[in-house]
Amino acid sequence: MDLRYSSAAERFRREIRRWLEQSVPARWRHPRFWIDRDGSEESLELRRRWEKDRFDNGFAGVDWPVEFGGRGADHEIRAVHDEEMARARAPIGPFLGLTYLGTALLGPTLLRYGTDVQKRTILPRILSGDTIWCQGFSEPESGSDLAGLSTSARRDGDVLVVSGQKTWTSLARHADAMFALVRTDPKAERRRGITFLLIDLTLPGVQVRPIRQMSGSHEFGEEFFDEVRVPVDGNVVGRIDDGWAVARYLLSVERNASPISQYVEFAHELDDVIAAARNTRKDGRPAIEHPRIRARIARCRADLELLRVRGYHTISRTARGQDLGADASVTKLLWSQTRLAIADLGADVLGADGQLSSDGGHLGWRHLHVRGQRIAGGTAQIQRTIIARDLLGLPR
Ligand SMILES: Cc1cc2nc3c(=O)[nH]c(=O)nc-3n(C[C@H](O)[C@H](O)[C@H](O)COP(=O)(O)OP(=O)(O)OC[C@H]3O[C@@H](n4cnc5c(N)ncnc54)[C@H](O)[C@@H]3O)c2cc1C
Repeated sequence: MDLRYSSAAERFRREIRRWLEQSVPARWRHPRFWIDRDGSEESLELRRRWEKDRFDNGFAGVDWPVEFGGRGADHEIRAVHDEEMARARAPIGPFLGLTYLGTALLGPTLLRYGTDVQKRTILPRILSGDTIWCQGFSEPESGSDLAGLSTSARRDGDVLVVSGQKTWTSLARHADAMFALVRTDPKAERRRGITFLLIDLTLPGVQVRPIRQMSGSHEFGEEFFDEVRVPVDGNVVGRIDDGWAVARYLLSVERNASPISQYVEFAHELDDVIAAARNTRKDGRPAIEHPRIRARIARCRADLELLRVRGYHTISRTARGQDLGADASVTKLLWSQTRLAIADLGADVLGADGQLSSDGGHLGWRHLHVRGQRIAGGTAQIQRTIIARDLLGLPR
C-alpha cells in the first residue's frame, strides 16, 4: 500500500505552507500566546482578521464546492490542508477556531440536509467568518441523554417560539448564531418531536451568559430563550419534528473531527512534554532518564501513530462516500484518550511545583483544559456504549 500523497497534493502543500509562513506570526506559536489573551478583544480581533484573510486567499473550506465559497478540492488535499494548519500552529480547532463549529459541524450538515437557499446564503458566510456559529444541543438536564431535551419551540403561524435553556456552549461569548435542537412536538415519541433549528442570537428574548472553565478559559457559556420568535422559513434544517436524523449525522461528523490535524497538534504537545522532561530533574536526574517516563512517552508516540493511520482510514472511507456512523466513536475515544495521556504525562513530569512556574505553565493549563474533551461531543462512556452496541453487536 502506498501512503504517499499525490504530486498535486504536494504542490498544494507548498502553496499553503508559503501562505501560512507569512500569515501566522512566530509569536502566535508560543504555547502561552493565546492562553494569556483568552476571552480578550485582542484575541477575537486577531482571529477574526486571520479567518477573513484565510478565506480571501482560498484556504477556507478547501473541500467544499466552489459555488458555496470553497475550493472544490478532494479529500487528499483536505488532509494536507489539515496537516499544514496544525504544523503551523494556526488558530484552528475547537478551542481557537472562530469558524470551527461552522466549518467542521454545521457546514457538512447543511451540505447534506440543507436547502439550496440555505447552502447559498449560509455556507459562504461561515467560511468568511462573517457569521460565527455555536452549537446548542446540551441542556442542564440533558447531555448524554440528548433525546430528553426540553427547550420548546411552539408553532405560531410563520414562526417557532423558542423557550428554554442551552448550556456548555463553546464559543457562546462570540457567536452570532446557534444551530440548536428544540422540541416541536412534546407528545411525540422522544426522538420524533425534535427539530434542528438555526437561531439568530441577536433576536429579542435571547440572553447569553459566560461560564468560566476550570482552565480559566472564558469563551464558554449558557443561553436563555424567553419566547424567542424564529421564522420557520430558512431556519429549519431537514423537516420539522425530524431533526434527530440531522443531529445524528452532525454528531458523527463531530466525533470524527480531523484525526490528521489532531495527530500533528498532539505530536507538538508531546514534543513540549519531552522538552520539559529533559529540563526537569526528578530524584537527582533528568526526568527523561526515568524508565517509567520513557515508557509512557513511547506509549503516547505509538498511540499517535494509530491516530495518524486512523486519519487515513477516515479519508479513504469519506472519499468512497461511506458514512462513518459508529466508527466515529472509535476515533473520538482514541484522540481524546491520547491527548489526555500526553497532558497527564506533562503534569507528572513537572510535578505540583512546576505547574505554577511561568515556562511550565502551559503544560499545567493543558492538563486542566483537555479533561473536558473526554466529555465534549459525547462522553467516553457513551462512545463505548455505541461501539459495543453498533460495532461489536454486544447485548445491552
Ligand atoms: C469542553 C466542552 C465543550 C462542550 N461544548 C458543547 C457545545 O458547544 N455545545 C453543546 O451542546 N454541548 C457542549 N458540551 C456539552 C457536552 O456535550 C456534554 O457535557 C456531554 O454530552 C455530557 O453531558 P452532561 O454534561 O449532561 O453529563 P451527563 O450526561 O449528566 O453525564 C454524567 C456522567 O454520567 C455518565 N453517563 C450518562 N449516561 C450514561 C449512560 N447511559 N451510560 C454510561 N454512562 C453514562 C457520563 O458518561 C458522565 O460520566 C461541551 C462539553 C465540554 C466539556
